[in-house]
Amino acid sequence: MIFFNECDSRECGQKSLAFLPCQKTMFSEHNSRQGLFFLKMEITINSQKRNELIDITFQVQELIKNVEKGVCTIFVPHTTAAITINESADPDVRIDILRKLSELIPQHDNYLHSEGNSDAHLKTSLIGSSVQVIIKKGVLVLGTWQAIYFCEFDGPRNRKVLVEVLD
Ligand code: ZN
Repeated sequence: MIFFNECDSRECGQKSLAFLPCQKTMFSEHNSRQGLFFLKMEITINSQKRNELIDITFQVQELIKNVEKGVCTIFVPHTTAAITINESADPDVRIDILRKLSELIPQHDNYLHSEGNSDAHLKTSLIGSSVQVIIKKGVLVLGTWQAIYFCEFDGPRNRKVLVEVLD
């Protein structure tokens, strides 16, 4: 199913700004006083492993393909999952990142947190919860070898990623 989205503001004039499949939700806001246009969207992720780097570049690109220009913030609203930008050409880079993180931050240590997932919390803080990417003519401005990775550190779980564009 495909649905279109329109800005709520009568002054905005933006219509059919973007469309996307039904598993993603989207809404937009227009701030007429400051003349800013916001586009807010969400990506759903079902991770399959406890530690996993999932390439979400294509999903983010699909969401922003009708945005002429702006800055896209991609934010993970979880305490045991993160986001990063890194190499997509060689899949071994993903494996190396996960292996080294687990070596530096073992799953079991003298952690106090009773939930038993302190390693996931630590990895999340180390990698970070958001990245920003510039958009030009509907395309994410990434380097040739770069991809956007959702970083699962306490899966498998159902997760979400928030994508917000500020024009
Ligand atoms: Zn915890």
